[in-house]
Parts: sequence; structure tokens; C-alpha cells
Amino acid sequence: MNSAAMLNAYPDSMGGTLADIATLLERKEMKGAFRSFYILPSVFTTDLDRGFSVISYDLDRNLSTPEDLDRLRALGMDLKLDFILNHLSVQSPQFQDMLRNGEKSEYRDFFINWNTFWEGRGRMTEEGYIQPDEKYIQDMFFRKPGLPILMVQFPDGKEVPYWNTFYQEVKTDPVTGKRSYLGQMDVNIQSPLVWQYYEEVLDKLAGYGASIVRLDAFGYASKLPGRRNFMNEPETWEILERIRQMAEKRGLTLLPEIHAAYSEGSYATLAEKGFMTYDFFLPGLLIDAIENHDPQYLVKWAREQKERNIRCVNMLGCHDGIPMLDLKGLVPDERIQGLIDLIVRRGGLIKNLHGKKNMYYQVNATYFSALNCEESKLLLARALQLFMPGKPQVWYLDLFAGKNDLDAVARSGEAGHKEINRTNLSVGEMEKRMNLPVVQDQLKLLKIRNSCRAFDFDAHLTVEAPDAHTIVLIWEYEGEKASLKADLLTGAFHVAAEGENGKVTFEQN
Ligand code: BGC
Repeated sequence: MNSAAMLNAYPDSMGGTLADIATLLERKEMKGAFRSFYILPSVFTTDLDRGFSVISYDLDRNLSTPEDLDRLRALGMDLKLDFILNHLSVQSPQFQDMLRNGEKSEYRDFFINWNTFWEGRGRMTEEGYIQPDEKYIQDMFFRKPGLPILMVQFPDGKEVPYWNTFYQEVKTDPVTGKRSYLGQMDVNIQSPLVWQYYEEVLDKLAGYGASIVRLDAFGYASKLPGRRNFMNEPETWEILERIRQMAEKRGLTLLPEIHAAYSEGSYATLAEKGFMTYDFFLPGLLIDAIENHDPQYLVKWAREQKERNIRCVNMLGCHDGIPMLDLKGLVPDERIQGLIDLIVRRGGLIKNLHGKKNMYYQVNATYFSALNCEESKLLLARALQLFMPGKPQVWYLDLFAGKNDLDAVARSGEAGHKEINRTNLSVGEMEKRMNLPVVQDQLKLLKIRNSCRAFDFDAHLTVEAPDAHTIVLIWEYEGEKASLKADLLTGAFHVAAEGENGKVTFEQN
């Protein structure tokens, strides 16, 4: 896996289709800025949660074609694609078959019938689902208020609860009273058919030219009565190992996705086991460093990453919010709270984990708005990101300095808060923004990063903090060298790199 910069977008984020993105990436301004592309899963056939509810891994032909993927390949772009192993859409052929054929369906065990799962461990409610006894669920991790179930209707009219950790959408027609529903239905990891399906998914992803496979929300896959049912141990590690063997056969590198407090150490365990990890600390750490003019936690984290030999993908913004829960244990609580308050004052939205104080999960905002829409801050954050350990992933809306989209939030329903940072840009809008200095300067920095081999995963990194507000990062690898000196009090920074284009420098004063 190379450590070059990676673009990140939905297939319809930039222009409207994947073909428009290919056209953009073929432009001379973009040449050399990216060598990888993380296409979010709405590139597949999906319904809810903007792609994370997969009907099938076939391409959504309204947005993308195999020819678009060929064009990306011709640009030398390797792909990161999602494998959403925890759930599948209500509309998937598997779930539909089960709904049609009930007990006779070959998929009858493919999903998790809540009542079968908890049988003998709770009391049946009037609504028809088992309320598990407190002792079985007191330690369970809940993503949303109430039990994670969706009542689905079989042809005989019977309503049966199925496990549904993430989103659902239930509508009742006001005239006919008929109920319709969508949902991300958890699959049953105990079923051999699920594992067969996993093989097929990995084949498809490899066929599309994926090189990194993001394992979405893998921590929810193992479910056992009486357990936390998030990162169950050792089962979760056994599942990951089994998937790794399947992925390796196909030349795929896994990138498991987990949000957890730093103090829980999941990132370190993943790295020790040889997995690539996500650096979900960096987005918050950078805002903390820039706004408090104090790089101490950034310095600590950069050093730790090198010491532990962590290979990560890092980012500023992404399709989700700015992670906050993750920072617990790395940054003092009152400083995390300070960041949340600041981003909210700047128009960000918070969604906590069902009201538990001190458990703020993410703050939803564009990264640019979180930085008070100050171009110099965004550029400083980008420069720091590019010099922190890892493969830098770049959210398209950060590249184009997008601001909080509160209209989009108002227009959407359930996952509405996330729409603040998911604005689709038209070709015209991108054309307008392309020449903005903040866009051009980010592209310059990305090209410097990609043209210099000093950032190799195996390179040597020196992290210095000559005074309380300055950070210096120096990369060296096989005779090539790159350095960044940033003064967080003034926001000034200096980049120098000696790579294939000779010596190049970049300054912000
Ligand atoms: C993705 C979210 C998604 C969830 C369920 C995540 O971790 O990043 O956007 O809602 O998984 O698939």
C-alpha cells in the first residue's frame, strides 16, 4: 500500500456522476494531486444512509459505469471501496427472499430474528418483541435510543422484529394505512451463507480494482447474548482474521473502521495485529492545536504513531462528523468540550449518543466552517495533515473550502445533521472555485506531498517542538527529504521538499 494522497467523495459529489469526477481528475490542475480515490458506497446499488445500506454491490448505473472505473485506472488511481459487513438493505435480494418465503427461504438465518436470538432470556411484549432481561443488556452498547429492531411484515401479516443497529425509515400511508419501511438489517455472522456472500462481495470489489477495502462498522458484527455487542472479544478479532485471509487472497488491504475512545486502545490493538488503521484523532487534534496555538497533543500523537509503527489513513473532514468521542484519553475532557462548543458556535451540530452526557460522538460541520472559514487555517491544517504519519485522505468539500450547509440539513430527515457537510457541487460551482487561492494552494501542497518519496510508510520521521507553539516535522527516506515548520501562534508555515521535481518550497506568512 502506498502512502500517497487520496481523494474522497460520493460518486455524485463533484458534477453529478463518476464520469464527471473522472473528467475533473483528468484536468491538468489535478494531475499529480491524488493517487488514490475513496468512492463512497453509493457507487453501488443502495438506498438509505447515502450508500451504507447496500441492496447489491452492482454499480448504480445512474451514477457510475465500468468505463468510469477504467478512466480512473488509466489515471493511475487506485481505489478504496467499502465492504459493509454488518448489514444489508431490506431491499436486498436476500432479505426480500426471506420475506417472501419465510421458513422456507434459504436466507431464513441470514439476518437476525430478534426473538430467536433472545429466546428464553426475556419477556415477550404486547408489540411482539422480546424485551431481554436487564442482566443481558446492561452492558450492551446502543447506537440509538430503544432496542435496535425493525418490525418487518411477512406475507401472512405477521410482524417479526429483526436486528437493526443503524438506520431505518418507516412510513405509513395516511390514506391506505399501509406501512412501508427501509432499514440496514444486521446480518447473522453465524450463518455459512453470510460468509459465502462475503466471498462474493470481496470478488466484486477486487473486480472493480479496489486496493483498500474499508471494513465499515465491523465492531458490530459479532453478537452474543449478555455481551457488549460492540467489539466483542475475542470474536471480533477472529472475524477480522478470517476476512483478512479472504482479502489477502485477492490482493486487498483491509482498513477496519472503528470509532472508540483513545483510552480504549483499539487503534493500537489493530496496528499490533498488522491492520491499517484510521486516524480519527487527527481532525480534532488539528483544530485543538490551531485554535489553542498549542501543538503538544499533536506532537505526542505523531511520536506515538511512529513508535508503534502505525500505518493509517488520516483526514480533515469526511462524510461523517468530526470525531470527538475518539479523543477521550488523548486530550483532556475540558479541552474536548471546548472544541465542541467552538465548532457549535461556528454553526456545527451535535448528535450525542442518546443523551448520555460526556459521550458526544461527533460534531457535524464542514472542516472549513469548524475553522471559522479562515483560509489560512484550512491551509495550515492541510499542511499539517500532509506531514502527519499516514496516507492522507481529502474530503472533496474541504478541498473546495465548503461551508456548513444548513439548508441541506433542514431539507433532510433522519440522518439530516450529516448533510451539513455533504453538499454536491455542480460542474459550474467547481469551475468557479477551482481558481480560488485556497483550492490552488491545497493542490500545490498535495502535489508536493505526492512527488516526494520521503513520506513512505517506512520513512524516518523526526518530530520537534522547539517552543510551546511551534512544531517541526521532518521526513527522510532513501535520500529524499521533506520538512514542515509551523508556528501555531501566527499560523505561518514553511514547507520544503526534495523529490522528483528537485527542491520545492511553499510558504504561508
Ligand atoms: C459510516 C457511517 C454509516 C455507518 C453504518 C459508518 O461507520 O461511516 O456513515 O452510517 O457506518 O454503515
